[in-house]
Amino acid sequence: MSQPAEDNDQRGSVRLESGLKALRQSPAFRGPGDPPEDHDHANDHLALLYEDSDDQFAAAIPFIRQGLERGEQCLYVADDNSRDEVLAAMRAYDIDVDTALESGALSVLTPAETYRRTGEFDRDTMLEFWEDSLEEAKADEGYTGLRAAAEMTWALEGDTSSDELAEYEGVLNPLYQDEDYTVLCQYNSERFSAEVIHDVIKTHPHLIINNTVSQNFYYTPPEQFFDSEDPETKVNRMTQTLQEHTAAKTELQEHREYLRELYEVSARSDLSFEEKLREIIELGCDRFDLEYGGLARIDPETDLFEIETINREHEHLIPGKQYPLSETYCQLVTDDGKTATVTDPASRGFEGKLCYEQFGVQTYLGTHLELDSDTDRTFFFLSNEPREESFSAAERTFHHLMGQWVQYELDRQQRERELRERTEHLQALIETTPDCIKTVGPDGTLLQMNTAGLEMVEAESASDVIGESVYDLIAPEDRQRFREFNERICQGESGTLKFDIIGLDGTRRQMETHAAPLSRPDETTVQVALTRDITDQVERKRELERALDLLEKTEHIADVGGWEIEPDTKEVFWTDHIFELLEVDTDEEPPLDEALAMYHEEDQPIVEGAVEEALDSGDPFDVETRIRTENGDVRWLRLQGVPETVDDEVISLRGAAHDITEHKEREHQLEELIGKLEASNDRLKQFAYAASHDLQEPLRMVSSYLQLLENEYRNDLDADAQEYIDFAVDGADRMRAMVNDLLAFSRVEQTDGEFEPVDCNRLLEQVTDNLQLKIEENDADISVKSLPTVWADSEQLEQVFSNLLSNAIKYSDDEPPEIEITVEEQANQWKFAVADNGIGIDPAKTDQIFEVFKRLHHDNEYPGTGIGLALCQEIVENHAGEIWMDSEPGEGSTFFFTIPKQATA
Ligand code: ADP
Repeated sequence: MSQPAEDNDQRGSVRLESGLKALRQSPAFRGPGDPPEDHDHANDHLALLYEDSDDQFAAAIPFIRQGLERGEQCLYVADDNSRDEVLAAMRAYDIDVDTALESGALSVLTPAETYRRTGEFDRDTMLEFWEDSLEEAKADEGYTGLRAAAEMTWALEGDTSSDELAEYEGVLNPLYQDEDYTVLCQYNSERFSAEVIHDVIKTHPHLIINNTVSQNFYYTPPEQFFDSEDPETKVNRMTQTLQEHTAAKTELQEHREYLRELYEVSARSDLSFEEKLREIIELGCDRFDLEYGGLARIDPETDLFEIETINREHEHLIPGKQYPLSETYCQLVTDDGKTATVTDPASRGFEGKLCYEQFGVQTYLGTHLELDSDTDRTFFFLSNEPREESFSAAERTFHHLMGQWVQYELDRQQRERELRERTEHLQALIETTPDCIKTVGPDGTLLQMNTAGLEMVEAESASDVIGESVYDLIAPEDRQRFREFNERICQGESGTLKFDIIGLDGTRRQMETHAAPLSRPDETTVQVALTRDITDQVERKRELERALDLLEKTEHIADVGGWEIEPDTKEVFWTDHIFELLEVDTDEEPPLDEALAMYHEEDQPIVEGAVEEALDSGDPFDVETRIRTENGDVRWLRLQGVPETVDDEVISLRGAAHDITEHKEREHQLEELIGKLEASNDRLKQFAYAASHDLQEPLRMVSSYLQLLENEYRNDLDADAQEYIDFAVDGADRMRAMVNDLLAFSRVEQTDGEFEPVDCNRLLEQVTDNLQLKIEENDADISVKSLPTVWADSEQLEQVFSNLLSNAIKYSDDEPPEIEITVEEQANQWKFAVADNGIGIDPAKTDQIFEVFKRLHHDNEYPGTGIGLALCQEIVENHAGEIWMDSEPGEGSTFFFTIPKQATA
């Protein structure tokens, strides 16, 4: 046997307890809780006690598999099972047997190749075999170590004595102490005698039973086992073993007792969680002999530590108090994993920390409770007294179990709270929703209904309808359909149905229901449904349809279509009438650019500009434009657009399009007519002018010759002749006056555009000067208010004042004329008034007197030509004003006329 070289030493120390530790970490094995205290060697010698091959392979094969994974050379000695059975089991455990065999990493050997190499079992030969194998594996093949699993049933045959076997097993332990060398001796406890098994237990430091790796308390080192000690030592050892045994048993009993209490408390249904927690904490304090126990909320990220519960008063650890987690022992549970213990705070680096220095805590046992939906907790026990020994595996296990219960309960409570909240939420929702929520059994029995539903069917209380047939509430014509629907839903379908209900007081309502099957705990399936009262909705839909129909008809009658442009997407919407107006066959609106392209090429810029401007500024537009219909006809549209804005942002542009083609045609015809009329009027005026102008000369001749006749033959003419001549002269004079007036009348329009500022005060002075003689003759009194300066043709305006004033003097009665000239300033014009106290006229005739040659009096009474007022009207209208009069016979007359201001100075 080679002694460990220096490098082996190092390697050994690195790999110390590696075999056992690896087993502890393997999920295939349970235990041992703690590494053995005196385990200061790298090799491990274990015994597997099994009852059948399932039991056996469940431990032996993972043991080999782990060796292969760790790069160790693995030997398996098959005897109780055949070589093929072992290989099959290895394959079943996912070992790549062929590769391992081929590479030599795995060898399955027989006892004849190992224990009975020389024919019979010989201890030294076998030890040599192990040594050679180990040497070969490490030095020659480069494996990290050797792992062997040997079925020991070969020892049942032949003449190997149980002592020989025990001796061999005993000496195997201290061998190759610094080598990575693990041997698993497999003993079939059904086949070997109890004595042999007893020896096996005594000679193996570790046992595997039921996949649990145990530290073997009954292991006896070989020198003691083989009776080399003196009787006293032996007695001591035996009594010690007895004591240890008893202590272990007591501990086990105690552990069981505490466990029983823990289960009892946790199972009590008469206690609340808080009460149970208190009891359990007390149990823990008792179990661990520590004063305090409790829970704290922790959050490593924010360094939070907050005491939530503590079993008795502590000066610093008070519920609700917060400290930095890093200042407490509880930090260990998050640093190190689940459970942490402190019995030596100073050597664990807690000097200077609050928990040690200030709180005075000397002993700590805590575990981390990770909660699914709440702040994590630590579940801790502590004492201000120091504790000599460290916490035993049993104590840690007990603490771990308690922690698990608390964690489960906290999670459960949180889940219950959430569930309760959710249920309450749902209940509130069901009770406040305006829709009916109900469940109906397969036979139509109404099982549940919320308040909204009860209101819909006009039930005063739930008992009016619950438990009754829901079919009775369905309108007769819908009842069968509803029954079939309910049956389908109760068979597992989902669906929607519209139907009418008739409430308990006879009101009909239209409903829409969405139903689904609901499985009940009693394994029946019922209908759960959300039912909405759509009576108003149906009514609104009907109204909407009516409104749309009305709109369509109105559009037709008014020949107006509606349109809308969506500002962001430039999407276009048209009412049906637009499609008709534009003779578009499809019912799909074109994109905006195509719609704009339908306008007459000359008008396109106008429409585009108007739309852009409206979208930009939010101002409405109103344009007249031509459009080319699909058929190529040109039609006139009046296009009005009204943008809608929100916070100065145009959100839509809507408008109307009105076909004004006929209107445009009429307008055009009218313009032509007006043109023709104006031309004919002009011609008439020219004719009147020419006629009156040309009439003057022959008239003058008639008058001159009549006067000559009168002057030359005055004495030769008799009275009659004299009178005839006077009539003729008079007629000629009257005709001249008429011709002069006509001439003035026909000239009025020829002065277009020659307006100037006219001071009416001065103008009137001039008029009264000219009429001075008449004024004096008639003893007329003329009062004039201050008059404005207006923009006018001064000569024409003088004519107006002159005519109105001379009429006012002329048409007076016996009283001397009193005439008043006033003016009223209005928004856009001056309103002049000339009022007299004369004879007045019949109000029915106030319009007639403005006609040419229209007179109300005979020439003998009041001489005149009947053109004066017609001339005034012509002049005032030529100034874009109006003239009219107010009068009562015998009460005097007032003539009004207006002159617009915009042309005034
Ligand atoms: P003329 O005075 O030459 O007859 P006008 O055109 O000036 O012609 O007047 C038409 C008619 O209106 C007069 O014949 C008279 O009957 C009536 N008329 C005009 N001014 C007045 C007035 N101030 N008072 C009463 N009647 C008037």
